[in-house]
Amino acid sequence: MQEPIEPVVAVVVAAGSGTRLGGETPKALRTVAGRSLVARSVAQLAAGGCTAAVVVVAAGMQDAFAADLAASPIPCTVVLGGAERQDSVRHGLDALGAAADLAGCRIVLVHDAARAFVPADVVARVIAAVRAGAPAVVPVVPVVDTIRSLDAAGSAVVDRSALRAVQTPQGFDRAALEEAHARIAAEGVQVTDDAAACEHVGHRVDLVPGSRRSLKVTEPLDLLIAEALAVGE
Ligand code: C5P
Repeated sequence: MQEPIEPVVAVVVAAGSGTRLGGETPKALRTVAGRSLVARSVAQLAAGGCTAAVVVVAAGMQDAFAADLAASPIPCTVVLGGAERQDSVRHGLDALGAAADLAGCRIVLVHDAARAFVPADVVARVIAAVRAGAPAVVPVVPVVDTIRSLDAAGSAVVDRSALRAVQTPQGFDRAALEEAHARIAAEGVQVTDDAAACEHVGHRVDLVPGSRRSLKVTEPLDLLIAEALAVGE
């Protein structure tokens, strides 16, 4: 008999205001070649091995997101976000405990809806590394720009060969991630990603190769690049 597939739940955060992109529509519902960023993200996560998604959205947007995600390849639960990104992730994790069909999962990915073009093989690498025992996994790419760091005296070039840009989806042992989010909330610690939350409570963070295709749609120029990526789908 075949082993049952181990569930992998993706928490997709989409509750930000997206003010840098402009427009009335929440960023994750903006379309590229006719499909929303969030629907594209969920499809890529599914193609890489995720079996369900919890999509975290802003107040008043639940029905719009549920309608947009109705034809997703995996079941999607839409829940309400919080004031900061880390609050939205925590709300997504709370939803795992509340839903009977998600409660048993051990592997959780956290993904920014804006990274709608993440290749399936990046998602699969992240899942494989968590399955192999890593408590926290992040996809990274080399930094292509020359970088300067600023201080009161001026600025200096940083050795970019030692730098990596961090992407999503980040993958976690669920217990490690839940513990990390509970601790940072209790201690009032601010983090910009979930791997940093895990590191704060002492877990190691493993790196896997990401992809330059996995750009974070943030500014109007990124939408133009996204349209180009969608050509030939
Ligand atoms: O603001 P930033 O670009 O870092 O946001 C990254 C992701 O976190 C976006 O997908 C955004 O929708 C999400 N987010 C959220 N809840 C917030 C703030 C941001 O879900 N309160």
